[in-house]
Amino acid sequence: MRTADIRQRWLDYFASKDHHVVPSVSLVSPDPSILFTIAGMVPFIPYILGTEPAPWPRVASVQKCIRTNDIENVGRTTRHGTFFQMNGNFSFGDYFKAGAIDFAWDLLTSSQDEGGYGLDGDRLWVTLWNEDHEAYEALTKTIGLDPKHIVRLPREENFWDTGQPGPAGPCAEWHYDRGPAYGPEAEGGDVDPGGDRYLEIWNLVFDQFVRGEGQGKNYPLLGELDQKAIDTGAGLERIAYLLQGKENLYEIDEVYPVISTVEDLTGRRYGADPEDDVRMRVIADHVRSALMVIGDGVRPANEGRGYVLRRLIRRAVRAVRLLGVEDEALPLLLPVSKDAMKASYPELEASFDTISQVAYGEEEAFRRTLTAGTTILDTAVQRVKSSADGGTPVLGGAEAFQLHDTYGFPIDLTLEMAAEQGVQVDEKAFRDLMAEQKRRARADALAKKTGHADLRAYEHLHKDLTTPVEFLGYTDTQAAV
Ligand code: ATP
Ligand code: MG
Ligand code: MG
Ligand code: MG
Repeated sequence: MRTADIRQRWLDYFASKDHHVVPSVSLVSPDPSILFTIAGMVPFIPYILGTEPAPWPRVASVQKCIRTNDIENVGRTTRHGTFFQMNGNFSFGDYFKAGAIDFAWDLLTSSQDEGGYGLDGDRLWVTLWNEDHEAYEALTKTIGLDPKHIVRLPREENFWDTGQPGPAGPCAEWHYDRGPAYGPEAEGGDVDPGGDRYLEIWNLVFDQFVRGEGQGKNYPLLGELDQKAIDTGAGLERIAYLLQGKENLYEIDEVYPVISTVEDLTGRRYGADPEDDVRMRVIADHVRSALMVIGDGVRPANEGRGYVLRRLIRRAVRAVRLLGVEDEALPLLLPVSKDAMKASYPELEASFDTISQVAYGEEEAFRRTLTAGTTILDTAVQRVKSSADGGTPVLGGAEAFQLHDTYGFPIDLTLEMAAEQGVQVDEKAFRDLMAEQKRRARADALAKKTGHADLRAYEHLHKDLTTPVEFLGYTDTQAAV
């Protein structure tokens, strides 16, 4: 089944169960507290919080998502994309736990001829909050799931909230056991999906309680919500790689064609070298994310969404370089990604001229940066080498910082290119300077916002930035390229 068909099957299934199908909203989050749409529920937040009445009791969607917090996972785990699609079904005061569990089981395990995904029910495992007896009953009695496949976890592991007093509730997460080839059997029911064996595919969130004040998950449950809600998210790409019999998310039909093109471009084979494989997956993922993000109107910039886009493109271009190719790469790769995505997103065809101009322009700019930075780095490296006097030559943190700050030269590139010439970098001093710069930028932003920058106000901002929040805010986008 093509990913586009798996997507359509989701929508058809829930439409047949009286859900109103809504199109994906933009990757530019409609909720102003976050940069990108990070989950299917984002457009429905007002209905879940109860601040607006829901126009429909049952909704289904396949939502485009960006999660920058997963950027370092890309290519290294089997399951994380920076861009991915979250299939969702939602109930606002309509069906609750038993209904949501029924739908999940039915869709996952019904045969493909019957409109389901045809997964083997004996391989499904579910993690539950240890006090959720209602969900446990529904799973064991109605579905008949083997109790050995139900893992009961404390609130810290399996409970959703917004980080604020308001709605909260337990989750039921569905995992698919990929078998012994992917790791040892869960011991004591530990299906922690850090490993590859038990793949988390679908999270059912039961918005059930009103929570009070408290840190982390340590808050009182004050009672039940008047209007309970169901909010679910299933990774389309994760279902796709199971159904397509692929090893990971980067090998599905919507992603792999870019890897094939990288093979042609570089003359290297996917599967021949683990580090090259990671680079190829990063390229395929980031090119796709850049395509979709630009398609939704984001432009490269030094902050906010534009900075995330810039970082995606730079990481992709750099990965191509590390595979030994210095020529422009996006003009070859981006059209391939667009062709792989257009079955589900036909609008990409019409906007591709604009999208490609933006992407190619950014690649050009980065290539110039690399050229200028390389000259400066080489000069600095020669200098510290000649003055090392027999000891290990070390490039100062201030120089690495200047390369980053003035020339946009990423620190990992500085580290790698210095190491190639036997030179270390004072990374700690670099990080200290970065932290100092961030601190100043925050204080400046606050001064701009409030017109003054007294310490009390700064502390308040600092608290906002460090308090755990449900959604990924601006801090998440500030890591160095
Ligand atoms: P994981 O533990 O694997 O990082 P998660 O618990 O962070 O996933 P949820 O927030 O529960 O994910 O999101 C709901 C579903 O969306 C997940 O069960 C998964 O199928 C999918 N998903 C989440 N993050 C990604 C991602 N980066 N790439 C692809 N699919 C994802
Ligand atoms: Mg995650
Ligand atoms: Mg998880
Ligand atoms: Mg989850």
